[in-house]
Amino acid sequence: GQCITHCPTGALRERDDTAKVFRALADPETITVVQVAPAVRAAWGEALDLPAYMATEGRMAAALKKIGFDYVFDTNFSADLTIMEEGNELLARLADPEEKRWPMFTSCCPAWVRFLKSQYPDMADHLSTAKSPQQMFGAVAKSYFAEKIGADPGKICSISIMPCVSKKMEATLPDMYSAGGGADVDIVLTTREFARLVRAEHIAPALLTEEAFDSPLGESTGAGVIFGVTGGVMEAALRTAYYCVEGVNPPADTFSDVRGFEGRREAEFSLGGRTLRTCTVSGLKNARDLIEDLRAGTVHYDFVEVMACPGGCVGGGGQPILDGVEMADVRGPRLYKLDEQRPLRFSHDNPGIKKLYAEYMGAPLGEKAHQLLHTHN
Ligand code: SF4
Repeated sequence: GQCITHCPTGALRERDDTAKVFRALADPETITVVQVAPAVRAAWGEALDLPAYMATEGRMAAALKKIGFDYVFDTNFSADLTIMEEGNELLARLADPEEKRWPMFTSCCPAWVRFLKSQYPDMADHLSTAKSPQQMFGAVAKSYFAEKIGADPGKICSISIMPCVSKKMEATLPDMYSAGGGADVDIVLTTREFARLVRAEHIAPALLTEEAFDSPLGESTGAGVIFGVTGGVMEAALRTAYYCVEGVNPPADTFSDVRGFEGRREAEFSLGGRTLRTCTVSGLKNARDLIEDLRAGTVHYDFVEVMACPGGCVGGGGQPILDGVEMADVRGPRLYKLDEQRPLRFSHDNPGIKKLYAEYMGAPLGEKAHQLLHTHN
């Protein structure tokens, strides 16, 4: 691989895992299952000189099929699954009069989780126990999906394409071997490594005909897509929490007050007759300030979303680097547009998710979900 860091000595050479992917693709015994994170679709074209209007999700799926993955799925699917678990966890905490762990923190950004556990370990139990979409996807690929195609989970190589460097570390944590087929996610590539795969295979994405993601782990909603931008997890969770409490879907944009790129943003909503106080934070400096304020008792929230990268995953460290230009506020609106265009915009309406619970997982927060979809320490 080529060295793309700016470290003059090369000592900070980025780990390149593309060779591992080529080995898995070349092995006829291995079933390769790839997932692509929401934020990748907002940026992959930049690394391949593909104009934004050409860099569609359909062309991205087509490029992955051309590379030769057996199943091309979407992390948006498991983003919807994360919302089912995390939204219900929030409601369960709200319903428990003994609950003291406020606010509940989101847990899908591994850099944030590591920051909190190392810097403020006494607050680690505020984190939602829901795994990130990447890890939920891996656990489902090697359990439910393996069973569906009659495959030994050990024969599946689960690969993720992420906007993020920390996701490589997350995949190796002790909780992430839950489905009995080795690591739930075997190889993590960044958006930049994905672009390298495309170039190595001499694929010209502009010439590809758009293709759909495979089913059943390729179906997704607008709520899953916005996971890649700051405020998106919060907004998606509120959409589903509202449905669980009120029994009907609100207009999909009811919670758009959580959107914004200022780094820290408060909002209040009424849910089931009470006021829910939320805060959305991106950037670890803002996260530290927020925690200090919480500890000083100057602010009070029920639910807090934290993403380590300014602007959320669209601005992640594994995304294409454009000479120091901040791209998060250009890529974020691309995801909001996809959300707006999706026929389904609520995680609980995803037909693939409904099927997964009905056929395999049982109920959110149930026994099987607890084993596969939540962390335990
Ligand atoms: Fe990774 Fe940054 Fe997204 Fe966190 S915010 S998951 S570090 S890309």
